Amino acid sequence: MLNSGWEMPWLGLGVYKAADGKEVENAVTTALGAGYRSIDTAEFYENEKGVGRAVKNSGIPRQEIFLATKVWNSSQGFDSTLRAFDRSLAGLDTDYVDLYLIHWPVEDKFPDTWRALERIHAEGRARSIGVSNFKIHHIQELLKTAEIVPAVNQVEFHPRLYQAGLLEFCREKGIQIEAWSPLMRGGLFDNPLITGLAEKYGRTPAQVIIRWELELGVVTIPKSVHPERIIENADVFDFSITDEDIQIINALNRNMRVGPDPDDFDF
Ligand code: NDP
Repeated sequence: MLNSGWEMPWLGLGVYKAADGKEVENAVTTALGAGYRSIDTAEFYENEKGVGRAVKNSGIPRQEIFLATKVWNSSQGFDSTLRAFDRSLAGLDTDYVDLYLIHWPVEDKFPDTWRALERIHAEGRARSIGVSNFKIHHIQELLKTAEIVPAVNQVEFHPRLYQAGLLEFCREKGIQIEAWSPLMRGGLFDNPLITGLAEKYGRTPAQVIIRWELELGVVTIPKSVHPERIIENADVFDFSITDEDIQIINALNRNMRVGPDPDDFDF
């Protein structure tokens, strides 16, 4: 359970780079059909409309689906975040989101952006609010003025970027870590250690990596637009990885990113 009191599914579908229209609609429809109940989008992905349509057309009651979106960097600041949120709600064709995130820690702006998220939360239009790409020092900065502790910090997280320090810090503060690029965009599927474990558990490399994140208590949102992969990625709740093997995967860490470092991001 998040510090907001709301439940968040441990696994969701990421839709970055899924094109608006049929591609994203089909991916979300497949995922909901396969039992996913959590979708991660963003203003920046320009596919909120497709996500909203697929959710509506699924016939699944809105309250059974956990919808997350994010305010983009150029929309940050108090008033412009409020406007961006209205656009996201309209795009998603819903009257609330389950989670609204600050996409990146835009220096000098994120404290005001956070005040807007607190307002939106108080109005009941975002059940939980959180951040993304925040390092420890960004969270410390935010907490100086924040009234609400973020419920979630969504960060790049996979075996090559096992952020042990951030994970521990967030755990102490009651902030749930959520992994983006949880599969390292496919970069570890040929790694001998991962393929060896996949063989040992009778699973695919993607399933081993996703299961490792779940074992660490990290929410994960693998992205795919292929039905068989969407189904494969969610078929991870009937096995577990031994502590010893978890340590072995942890040791693959190289502090290696496939996305930007939040401290060098060109906002
Ligand atoms: P992922 O690590 O989820 O990898 C996605 C890639 O792996 C796609 O190319 C997909 O291909 C492929 N893939 C997925 N499953 C399988 C499988 N079982 N077998 C083989 N290949 C597979 O990367 P993302 O960067 O997309 O991260 C996931 C989500 O995290 C995003 O979609 C987004 O929602 C979020 N995110 C958030 C960011 C942030 O700044 N907050 C930044 C980046 C991502 P295909 O689709 O063709 O099947």
